[in-house]
Amino acid sequence: MQFLLAHKKIVLGALLAVCAVVVLIVVVLPKPKVVEQPASEVVSVSTKVIGTSVEGRSIEEYSFGTGTSTIILVGGMHGGYEWNSVVLAYKMIDYLTEDPLRVPGDMTIKIIPNLNPDGVTKVANKEGKITETDVLIKSDTTGIGRFNANGVDLNRNFNCKWQATSTWKGAPVKAGTQPFSEPEATALWDSVQGLEGARELRAVVFWHSQANAVYASECENGVLPITTDIMNAYAGASGYTPVSSFDAYPVTGDAEGWLASIGIPAITVELKTHTSVEWEENRKGVEALLNYFSVMR
Ligand SMILES: [Zn+2]
Repeated sequence: MQFLLAHKKIVLGALLAVCAVVVLIVVVLPKPKVVEQPASEVVSVSTKVIGTSVEGRSIEEYSFGTGTSTIILVGGMHGGYEWNSVVLAYKMIDYLTEDPLRVPGDMTIKIIPNLNPDGVTKVANKEGKITETDVLIKSDTTGIGRFNANGVDLNRNFNCKWQATSTWKGAPVKAGTQPFSEPEATALWDSVQGLEGARELRAVVFWHSQANAVYASECENGVLPITTDIMNAYAGASGYTPVSSFDAYPVTGDAEGWLASIGIPAITVELKTHTSVEWEENRKGVEALLNYFSVMR
């Protein structure tokens, strides 16, 4: 009998102890605070198709951040032999995907890694995302895959002093039947004109190779003041030479000139060679643009 009473006491004691712990957790201990993030700090990463090339390949755009100040980075305008501009763009996509908080809260970065996918297939054995190992023809100076599948130099197909025949290194090149006749150029037009919500396009950067320089842009009204600022900022951070005006040979219908004509600062970044990706230089260059445009830095 005494044993049973003692056993009941132990069970009762254990129950009371459990109840006490529950009361302590529920009533006495402070509750964890639910921290609500302001909408402006919610990080967004998304991908969409902004167009289709002449041969039916998707032209993709990656978007990072939800801030209103937007910059667009473009690789692959001259496709094939400028493949390093495409690899660089994909490296930037990986870098921002790894930690989207690298984009300040008041900024959005959009990246079009490959504006001329038909051209890139002339040197690579893979479609979509490419790395250096996917490129079969790494070094070429004759311009393999520079043009789109219609034989048009895309960077002559935009609406700034457009002419049906333009030039590249002094030789004639096809510029399309009219401005934006090519689907790849239209894809860029859609990206520039179709920003979501209250986003405002502050600048566009085009990656090319290989002149080891950062060029300002203009059409017929001179270089925009902000264009000069960001050319110097990018050049200072990356080490490329800033060049206020391109006068090696006359160019018509270039994309950066079209953007200048509609009041959007644009710069052309030319890598040093056709075979080097120059990641650190360009990471620092893009950081310099974020420092320039973001009020949070
Ligand atoms: Zn180029």
